[in-house]
Amino acid sequence: MSSFDLIVIGGGSGGLAAAQRAAEYGAKVVLIESHRLGGTCVNVGCVPKKVMWYAADLAEGMRDAAGYGFAVSAEGHDWQQLKTRRDAYVERLNGIYANNLAKRGVTLVRGRAAFADRASVAVDSARFTAPHIIIATGGRPVVPPIPGAEQGITSDGFFELTARPRRVAVIGSGYIAVELAGIFASLGSSTALVLRTASALKQFDAMLGESMLKILADEGVAIHTQAVPASLEGGPGDLTVVARDGRRLGPFECVLWAVGRSSATAGLNLARAGVACDAEGFIHTDKYQVTSAGGIYAIGDVTGRAQLTPVAIAAGRRLSDRLFGGQADRHLDYHNIPTVVFGHPPIGTVGLTEQAARENYGDDNVTVFKSSFVPMYHALTAHKPRCDMKLVTVGPEQRVVGVHVIGPGADEMLQGFAVAVRMGATKKDFDDTVAIHPTSAEELVTMR
Ligand SMILES: Cc1cc2nc3c(=O)[nH]c(=O)nc-3n(C[C@H](O)[C@H](O)[C@H](O)COP(=O)(O)OP(=O)(O)OC[C@H]3O[C@@H](n4cnc5c(N)ncnc54)[C@H](O)[C@@H]3O)c2cc1C
Repeated sequence: MSSFDLIVIGGGSGGLAAAQRAAEYGAKVVLIESHRLGGTCVNVGCVPKKVMWYAADLAEGMRDAAGYGFAVSAEGHDWQQLKTRRDAYVERLNGIYANNLAKRGVTLVRGRAAFADRASVAVDSARFTAPHIIIATGGRPVVPPIPGAEQGITSDGFFELTARPRRVAVIGSGYIAVELAGIFASLGSSTALVLRTASALKQFDAMLGESMLKILADEGVAIHTQAVPASLEGGPGDLTVVARDGRRLGPFECVLWAVGRSSATAGLNLARAGVACDAEGFIHTDKYQVTSAGGIYAIGDVTGRAQLTPVAIAAGRRLSDRLFGGQADRHLDYHNIPTVVFGHPPIGTVGLTEQAARENYGDDNVTVFKSSFVPMYHALTAHKPRCDMKLVTVGPEQRVVGVHVIGPGADEMLQGFAVAVRMGATKKDFDDTVAIHPTSAEELVTMR
């Protein structure tokens, strides 16, 4: 049995952050990882996804270039070459993470961890014990339990594709579905987006999902609403999605499930440690990330809350600040978490949706400001997707509680506005800020 101050299970965004911060305070830390360091974000999430988004963005740029006098076209894209270069980049990152752990003296154990009891963890025949154990095992893509579903791929499989499928269906309505559908479409796949309801991006302000679906449809993506898959028929490369209402969609070379993510807790023996999960299988914690078992904590996607890399990192670092850095009340505030949907165009959003503001503060206390325009970049291009913006304010002082943008540059625009929202900026603060011209962002400080 090896004794440590801290055991971290999972070397993804949250686990790495917590382990390294704890080690910086001088704690003796062991981190256990069953697959590749970096977890979902680095290997099958944010990082390779953003590489694909950049590729799609270049394809769009080449299409738009004609409006600026260039005679170029996005012919002959080599998906395999892009994948090889992307994989090499991810491998470099895997190595950097291993070095970072070594530099800080964190012991790295490769293997699958399971609780032996409330204070110790087993990896094969090895046993580790510590007064503090962090569960940071992340999540997994869900595949629905319907006939033929296994013939589809998930976001994990997306990153294994060695060639661009010519005809593809993305099933789902969340941000991963929208992002991957946008990438396929921009890179030239005939793309269908299959939604259970009439709307997409339901956790965001309604304006964003509506605009996104319209823009995707204008770009040629076939949008199938109210289509609940009942089965997947056919064989490899020739798949038909059969909906509950009898609709047959296809044939598709590739069907991608993007219908949610579940917590990766199987095999951890949580019951042995006294760690309880909620009805959906996510680990419940208090605001200090403490689970139902004292001394055992959970951070990141496995908790089901705000499943984003910076959230997992922030929760992990704050937890280690509290446990080993003498900061007794340090914890993550889950309000006002900014996020981006890397669509074409991207979405940037922070704070309350208009609907949530109305529910929380009452209709009379909510004032909404909107702007919709064709960004200057598109003045000369054939495609003219609009940029839509919304400020949600509350109270007579019009405190800004929500900023929602879909349009080129929204991804880079929102970080600074998130600071303003967090600090309690009012509409007047926005108005008193001198605009940067000519940009799309200036609309946010000139709305009337
Ligand atoms: C397609 C896609 C795109 C995304 N894009 C973005 C984005 O643009 N921006 C953003 O902020 N977020 C994005 N995310 C979400 C982001 O990847 C996650 O929120 C983040 O990785 C969560 O970190 P985590 O530490 O909780 O878990 P993970 O990163 O999933 O790490 C968990 C680790 O635990 C390991 N593990 C699991 N069980 C065990 C065990 N029993 N023993 C040992 N090790 C174990 C796993 O192998 C894994 O490495 C995306 C996700 C996906 C799927």
